[in-house]
Amino acid sequence: MNDILVQNTTAFFEKSFGSAPQKVVLSPGRINIIGEHIDYNDGYVLPAAIDKVICFAFAKNDTKKSRIVAIDLNEDFEIDLTQEVTLSDVVWTNYIRGVIKQLQDNGFVFEGFNCVFSSNIPVGSGLSSSAALECGTIFGIKALFDLKIEKVDISLLGQKAEHWVGINCGIMDQFSSVHGLENKVIKLDCNTLDFEYHNADFKDYSLVLFDSNVKHSLFTSEYNTRRIECEQGLAIIKENFPAIKSFRDCTEEQLLSIEDKISPTVFKRVHFVVKEINRVIKACEALDNGNIELLGQLLFETHYGLSQEYEVSCAELDMLVDTAKADDAIIGSRLMGGGFGGCTINLIKKGHENEVKSKFSNLYLDTFGIELKFYDVKISNGTTLL
Ligand code: ADP
Ligand code: MG
Repeated sequence: MNDILVQNTTAFFEKSFGSAPQKVVLSPGRINIIGEHIDYNDGYVLPAAIDKVICFAFAKNDTKKSRIVAIDLNEDFEIDLTQEVTLSDVVWTNYIRGVIKQLQDNGFVFEGFNCVFSSNIPVGSGLSSSAALECGTIFGIKALFDLKIEKVDISLLGQKAEHWVGINCGIMDQFSSVHGLENKVIKLDCNTLDFEYHNADFKDYSLVLFDSNVKHSLFTSEYNTRRIECEQGLAIIKENFPAIKSFRDCTEEQLLSIEDKISPTVFKRVHFVVKEINRVIKACEALDNGNIELLGQLLFETHYGLSQEYEVSCAELDMLVDTAKADDAIIGSRLMGGGFGGCTINLIKKGHENEVKSKFSNLYLDTFGIELKFYDVKISNGTTLL
């Protein structure tokens, strides 16, 4: 699948600039098995890079300007590297402007380059095409100009670029796009950035994403509200238990003992966070022990927590997960990503994928008048120089 993308991207570069690219980079999207809304709460998450990528072709152009072409949009822009980088009305260019700005602000020296890129990561479905765009661009500039940047710093620069664009994201997306490994999930401590790999062998089950094809506008405002609610909740926990530095230090019992000191809404949010961090730990044990049925149950628990306590689900996602819960061929399902739309992640008994897909498509179309999309995903390597 990605071979054709690479061929097309390279050919487009040659046609546009009259010579072959000097560097070709693949930068993947990511899934998150479990640990949702946890990266900005300094807990553990369990993401992995997937076999859907943005392919970039780069070459130096011996000027002080860079020209970048988004093949899929049939759009391009030029940026003068001697001028201060500013935000543009053309949103996609800002991810690249942001990366250039972060590299320059952090003292990395580079000159003009040409770049074309094309992608098979669904955009805006929660698979982090934006992180792939940031990290792939940094990777390419690093390779072209031989910059000394550690992997973890590529992630951090990508995250800063996304903040500059205006999305106050955690570190998970960029970190997993860069650090992914084939058939491994990454247990990432979002506080210290320590990480360990666990085998991602789902045994008799396939990993399939169902794309709800909706994105409700509540997303940004609710995301920001959740961040504030969690900060408020954590402040009360710390007042009562001075030894606690972040949510991962707090047991459920400790939290329950101060329930009356926290407003009901904030309590629901932080209760979800404390339980979700524990579920990540249990999910790693389940994977290590090959207990995929247990992993599946944890996914359902996460979904109902996100829906009822964290309140970031929507009718479409709830319907997909409720239907999955009642289906013997699906052992786990939950909304993945920020919520209010995007994908659910599902563990489906091998051999039953087609019947499940056709049942869900019909039901979803009948209920919401919207086409459901499916992505079969394989856990793959992080950003790679070909
Ligand atoms: P997600 O990261 O979940 O896919 P975001 O809204 O965070 O969704 O990022 C999507 C944005 O990233 C797009 O609106 C666009 O600006 C940029 N982007 C992603 N993929 C491409 C692409 N192939 N070509 C141009 N821009 C892209
Ligand atoms: Mg994104």
